[in-house]
Amino acid sequence: MFLSCKDVTDLSSEYIDNELDWSVKLKIRFHLLMCGYCRKFVRHMDITHEYVKKQQTLNYIGGQQLDEKVDIIMAEINKARVTANPHSQTNQSDDSSEVI
Ligand SMILES: [Zn+2]
Repeated sequence: MFLSCKDVTDLSSEYIDNELDWSVKLKIRFHLLMCGYCRKFVRHMDITHEYVKKQQTLNYIGGQQLDEKVDIIMAEINKARVTANPHSQTNQSDDSSEVI
């Protein structure tokens, strides 16, 4: 039932990337409530993660094929949205306001 500190540190990158099942996320959150060490660890991971993401975005924008890449990414996002919820097409404006 309870996760150990090792479990939490092992799962932390998936946790930050939001790739975990809700039940696992709940267990991690519960552990973080009680464990200052893991709280610090996950917060530090999160900061590092955001930093790396920002750096990647900056490098990316500096690239010359940006328009082409944006098109590819947008196509992937649209594909993923349709796959995830085939009935969401009719109220797309509601979806996007929620995401932002
Ligand atoms: Zn812990």
